[in-house]
Amino acid sequence: MSIEDIVETETLVIGAGPTGLGAATRLNQLGREYLIADAAEQPGGLASTDVTEEGFYFDVGGHVIFSHYAYFDDAIHRALPNDDDWTTHQRVSYVRSAGNWVPYPYQNNVSQLPLDLRVKCVDGLLAAAEHRAQTPGHKPKNFDEWIVRNMGEGIADLFMRPYNYKVWGTPTTKMQCKWLGERVAAPNVRTVVRNALTMETAGNWGPNATFKFPMKDGTGGIWTAVSKQLPSKKFKLGKSGQVKNINAKDKIVIFDDGKKVKYQNLVSTMALDGLLDVLEGDKNDQTSIQKMKVAAKQGLVYSSTIVLGIGIRGQRPDRIGDKCWLYFPEDDAPFYRATIFSNYSPYNCPQDNIKLPTIQKADSSLSFDKEPKEGPYWSIMLEVCQSSEKPVDLDKLMENTIKGAISTELMLPTDEIVSLYERRFDHGYPTPSLGRDQAISQILPTLKDEFNIRSRGRFGSWKYECGNQDHSFMLGVEAVDNALFGTPEMTLHETDWVNGRRNLERRLL
Ligand SMILES: Cc1cc2nc3c(=O)[nH]c(=O)nc-3n(C[C@H](O)[C@H](O)[C@H](O)COP(=O)(O)OP(=O)(O)OC[C@H]3O[C@@H](n4cnc5c(N)ncnc54)[C@H](O)[C@@H]3O)c2cc1C
Repeated sequence: MSIEDIVETETLVIGAGPTGLGAATRLNQLGREYLIADAAEQPGGLASTDVTEEGFYFDVGGHVIFSHYAYFDDAIHRALPNDDDWTTHQRVSYVRSAGNWVPYPYQNNVSQLPLDLRVKCVDGLLAAAEHRAQTPGHKPKNFDEWIVRNMGEGIADLFMRPYNYKVWGTPTTKMQCKWLGERVAAPNVRTVVRNALTMETAGNWGPNATFKFPMKDGTGGIWTAVSKQLPSKKFKLGKSGQVKNINAKDKIVIFDDGKKVKYQNLVSTMALDGLLDVLEGDKNDQTSIQKMKVAAKQGLVYSSTIVLGIGIRGQRPDRIGDKCWLYFPEDDAPFYRATIFSNYSPYNCPQDNIKLPTIQKADSSLSFDKEPKEGPYWSIMLEVCQSSEKPVDLDKLMENTIKGAISTELMLPTDEIVSLYERRFDHGYPTPSLGRDQAISQILPTLKDEFNIRSRGRFGSWKYECGNQDHSFMLGVEAVDNALFGTPEMTLHETDWVNGRRNLERRLL
C-alpha cells in the first residue's frame, strides 16, 4: 500500500444520518479535522424522504420531532431558519379499536368503546390497581408483566399486546420494560373510571402534543439542510462512502472503491451487527471480536420496517379531517400505524393543477377512466413490521394494505389511487429485547476501550429509548466530545435523566 493511497483524518464518521451529522456538526463547530462517509447518495439515513414519480413525498414512517436538547434545536433552526420553512400541528391521534376511533392515549379514553369492552378495561384496571397495592415495589420482569401491572388484562388484550406485537414483531413477553420511561402513559385509575362513566374523553397527553414539520421535502429536508451547513468536501457519499472493511489495528477504513482513510478516532453509526461483520484486527484482537459477535447474535434483536404510501385524488374526506397519525392494533389491516401525510404539509402532495392518471380504484375490481385528471390530492403513509417472528407476504402486501385501508375506513372502495410507494428498510426498529442490555454493555465498551471505536446511533448503540432524531444527533455530538475531551456521554449512559429534562449544556448558536 503506497502512502498516497491513504487519506488521513483526525476523526472519521461512518454514516450521514442524524447521528453522523450530529458528530460532523460538532467537529465542524470545534474546527477539527474530519470526514463523514455514507453508502447512500444522500445524507439523512432513516430520517430521509422519498418522492414518487407522481410527486408524492413519503418519510420512513411517521417522523415527528420532539426535542430534548437546545443544541439540536439550534442545529435545525440554523438549517431551516425561516418561519415559513415549517408547519405546526396539534397532534390528532386515534386508535382504531372495535370499529371505533378511540383518541390517543387509548387507556384514558376507553369511554369510546362498546359497553362490554369498557367494563373489561375498567375491571382489569381496578384489578391491576389492587394488585399494585398488594405488591408495592414489585418490578415486572418483562414488558408483558409491566402492561398487566399498570393497565390490567382488558387494555392489555384489546390494545397493548396486539399493537406492540404489530410494531415490534416480538411478543411482549420477550421484551424488557426498562426502556419505557416517559413514552407510555400510565393511566390514572380515577380519570379512566370517571371518563368511562361520563363518556368523556381525556385531552392530549405527553410530550408531542404539538409538533412542527418541514414545509418542503419532508423530514429528509431537515437533514439535507443540516448537511448543507457543513463543507461538501467533508462528505464521501455513495460507493466511495460504503465501508467494506475496518482494520482496527492500523486504524484504517477501506471503502468500496478501494480508497482508504486512516483515522485517530472512529465514530460509527452503521448498525452494530454490520460493524462487527466488517471489523478486523490482529491476532490478539480475534478473541474480543469473536466475543462481541457472539454477544450480538445472542442479545440483539431488530425488526424491518416496510413503508407503503398511497396517493389519492379527491378532497380529503371529512372522516379523515385533521387526523395526524392512527394506530391499528387489530388484524383487519397489516399496518400498525397510518399517517395522513398530506396533512403535514401541502407540499407533500402534487399541487391541484397537476394532471395524473388513475392507477386503480381502491377496490381494484372497479373500472376507472384512464385519462389524466387534475387534483386535489391527499395521501396516506402506512408502516408494517416484519421480523423473524412476524413474517409478511411481501408479494401481496400492497394489495392487503389497500384492503386494510378500506376495512378500517381510511379509504373508500371508489377512491382513485394515483400513486403507490413501497420500500423496505431492513433495520427499522431496535427491539428492547430481554438480552439487549447485556449485549450492548459488553460490545460498546469493548469497541471503545480496545479499538477506539464509538458505535452510536439508532442501531449503532441499539437503544430505542434514545433512538429518535434528537437523541441520535446528540449521540453523535457527545461521542465527539467524549473522544476529544473525555466528556461523559449522558444520552447513551443516562437516558432516563436526559429524557426527563431539557438539556441546555451545549449551544451551537
Ligand atoms: C419507522 C420509523 C419511525 C421513526 N419515527 C421517528 C419519530 O417520530 N421521531 C424521531 O425523532 N425519530 C423517529 N425515527 C428515528 C429516526 O429515523 C432515527 O433517529 C435516525 O434516523 C437515526 O439516525 P442514525 O444516524 O443513528 O441512523 P440512520 O439514520 O440509520 O443512519 C445510518 C447511516 O449509516 C449508513 N451506513 C450503513 N452501513 C454503512 C456502510 N457499510 N458504509 C457507509 N455507510 C453506512 C446508512 O446508509 C445510513 O445513512 C423513526 C425511525 C423509523 C425507522
